Amino acid sequence: MIQLYIPLNFLGVLYREIKQSLADMERLFSLLDQNREIADSDSARDLHIDHSEGGEVVFSHVNFSYESKRQILFDVDFTIPAGMTTAVVGHSGSGKSTLSRLLFRFYDIQSGSIVIDKQDLRDVTQHSLRRAIGIVPQDTVLFNDTIEYNIAYGKPGASKEEVVAAAKAAYIHDFIETLPDGYASMVGERGLKLSGGEKQRVAIARTLLKNPSILIFDEATSALDSKSEQMIQAQLKEIAKNRTTLVIAHRLSTIVDAQQILVLDKGRIMERGTHQQLLELDGAYAQMWQRQQNRQEQPDSPEPSVDEL
Ligand code: ADP
Ligand code: MG
Repeated sequence: MIQLYIPLNFLGVLYREIKQSLADMERLFSLLDQNREIADSDSARDLHIDHSEGGEVVFSHVNFSYESKRQILFDVDFTIPAGMTTAVVGHSGSGKSTLSRLLFRFYDIQSGSIVIDKQDLRDVTQHSLRRAIGIVPQDTVLFNDTIEYNIAYGKPGASKEEVVAAAKAAYIHDFIETLPDGYASMVGERGLKLSGGEKQRVAIARTLLKNPSILIFDEATSALDSKSEQMIQAQLKEIAKNRTTLVIAHRLSTIVDAQQILVLDKGRIMERGTHQQLLELDGAYAQMWQRQQNRQEQPDSPEPSVDEL
């Protein structure tokens, strides 16, 4: 009976996912992948986060490849102390987003370990792991459903009051009120098209509702207009407070306050330190910074992302 229930339930979830968002490939992919390759061990326990300010995240000598022929990460080794922020910078394809996929355990690593508050990811239930981590992704894909549903997705069973509170905190409530059907307005491919900044605010509201101990922010590559960008940065700083945070950064000006910055190059950490330490090191990071500063001085040109450098 139990054996029958689990696959049926899984299919139900999957069907709902497909129906609601053909576009949200990463979610689907993760669901499929989770069922196919990544399984909870028989002795898996729920992840327990010790600190109120978030868990300590430790990557130890992580080697990883998606396919056997091509290694993506080489001996990646770093710690994010509980409640602190680590930023990762590097060219496109250097492995930044892979770090966040591994933290979610969408894939298992070939060697090394990833540990949250002394618990190896392979020893905890996937359900509890994914509940503990919130992500504000590069491109938020909205479901073809109401805006209320899209925000409430962060916390199944959330009340309307909770949704409104999260929307207010993410500064999107006033905008929603101007929509013809308010919170019942349909969004997504077949509904209202929201701007990049509005979609990011929906993602922020979702994450606020989820209230995760660990936060991943994959910064958008395409520059939002600078006013939206500044507002979103301020909001993210606010949510990152008292949470362990991994920021995948494209604009270096957004991470000058991070306690640790990692420079990833072809899957290896080439430099690490604070913004000031890395400038003094006068290496790859200092060069990226210099180039972004130079570009910024030209009027009308948005600050370039690392990928364009
Ligand atoms: P970044 O976020 O730094 O731009 P990614 O972590 O997304 O880089 O990708 C790192 C490398 O892994 C890239 O060369 C990319 O092509 C490869 N890669 C990403 N996802 C997959 C996948 N699912 N299968 C095979 N290779 C992948
Ligand atoms: Mg990426």
